[in-house]
Amino acid sequence: MKWWLTVLLVLCFEFNGHAQAIQRPKLVVGIVVDQMRWDYLNRFHDRFAPNGGFKRLLSMGFNCKNTSINYTPTFTACGHASIYTGSVPAVHGITGNDWWDNRTQAYLYCTEDTSASTVGNNGGAGKMSPRNMLTTTIGDELRLTTNKISKVIGIALKDRGGILPAGHSANAAYWYDSKAGEWITSSYYMNALPAWVTNFNARKLVDSFYKQGWNTLYPISTYTRSTADEKSYEVKPFGAAAKGFPYDLKAFAGTNYNPILATPFGNTLTTEFAKDVIEYEQMGVDSITDLLAISYSSTDYIGHSFGTNAIEIEDTYLRLDKELGDFFDFLDNKIGKNQWLLFLSADHGAAQAPAFMKENKIPAGHFTKRVLFEKLNEELKKKFDKKDLVIDIINYQVVLNLPLIESDKKLKMPEIKSQVVQYLTKQEGIERAFALDDLAGTTLNTKIKGMVANGYYPARCGQIQLMLKPQWIDEFLSGGTTHGVWNPYDARIPLLWYGWNIKNGTLDRETDITDIAPTLAALLGIQPPNGSVGKVINEVIK
Ligand code: ZN
Ligand code: ZN
Repeated sequence: MKWWLTVLLVLCFEFNGHAQAIQRPKLVVGIVVDQMRWDYLNRFHDRFAPNGGFKRLLSMGFNCKNTSINYTPTFTACGHASIYTGSVPAVHGITGNDWWDNRTQAYLYCTEDTSASTVGNNGGAGKMSPRNMLTTTIGDELRLTTNKISKVIGIALKDRGGILPAGHSANAAYWYDSKAGEWITSSYYMNALPAWVTNFNARKLVDSFYKQGWNTLYPISTYTRSTADEKSYEVKPFGAAAKGFPYDLKAFAGTNYNPILATPFGNTLTTEFAKDVIEYEQMGVDSITDLLAISYSSTDYIGHSFGTNAIEIEDTYLRLDKELGDFFDFLDNKIGKNQWLLFLSADHGAAQAPAFMKENKIPAGHFTKRVLFEKLNEELKKKFDKKDLVIDIINYQVVLNLPLIESDKKLKMPEIKSQVVQYLTKQEGIERAFALDDLAGTTLNTKIKGMVANGYYPARCGQIQLMLKPQWIDEFLSGGTTHGVWNPYDARIPLLWYGWNIKNGTLDRETDITDIAPTLAALLGIQPPNGSVGKVINEVIK
């Protein structure tokens, strides 16, 4: 072949190769708003700012209006893992925030890792890693695709909100140590904090938020979508004397770095940290896609404390809306319009406070797990003449003492299980109880059955499932509310898309939390995470 023909062919091939290069955004931003009920988008719609974050996403992005969680329990760790893995607890193994491990016969916290140490201070809050999660995240797949040139970082006030989304091969995850009032990480990722994190901590932003206190953003009389301020069923995260707005937080400055969690300024701290991550880690500066996973934790602490219908919640979302608007402007300036791709969702919703429901004549109640646990063991002792047959009731499941039962030939597993089921079924507030290994033979609505099956990873689960009546919550006796069950108030979540290659529109058909990661994989032209069971939401993609 003539030399010039070879050169020409090589040039053509090169040119063609470049012309067909996979197009990707410069930056993917994932936002999880911890405990954001889907209906907040509508409840506060006309209160959101015209240039705020939510109206921008709703009017220019894509709204998957009927998105749900397709497993139980609906807890924080499960939600964050499922969003970024496209998988369910039965596969990724994150069966709760904590669980009882039947192999080691010990409790395990979702991101606990005793082989890791804290980076940033001498405390124990950094002994964490994603090792207990069994599958890859979308960030892992991005790193594998680009031979680790893509940068992937997760941040949240909660350790699990930063660590699980970022995945195993992440460059970093950072979270807030509420004892020290500082952002930290773990030796799993690095040996020393980057200078920019140390500098961020040195700014002592938390103290300045405390000094400013928490008053409502607008006159309190305009908060007509919420119950009156100061209800008897609110818990008091700022001390018993702090009765309603305005909250004076000055006394916490320099002394207590925990109460910031239950204020909207915990979100502000997170946004400010996110801006520094982008700035100093140079995310989104070149054509190799980076991924920043942000989780806003304060929304969850505030919901737990004040209930979902409180002025505190409305004010928190109005503030978050404005902050997101500013953050999106920051991204436009830094990365460029339509050069970044964003999704916003939630790890779960929350029940209304039971006392609030009773005020409105709607059935609701409290179930006291600890009392039930003790009574159940007493009952089994009477029947089988053996104490401590139950180890715990955790994640709405009864954990049996398997080694004890196996070691005693007189004890028969089926009899014990059937006794537990009979006893639980008689208790107030409990709708159903059934053995998990007999889920197929249990008469139960198929949707709920599917959700329970998706949450069942035998080594990390109990043996008997219990289902509460709607609006019955466990613990939280002193006030506030919680989440964790299959019902729509916990399982319905927002799902909004915006930016690079995202259509403008809405979708009415039902989608699942597990569809988020495979849709991202399709948008990026990469492999879905290795445990992904979701489906691509084609309607979202241009
Ligand atoms: Zn949560
Ligand atoms: Zn929560």
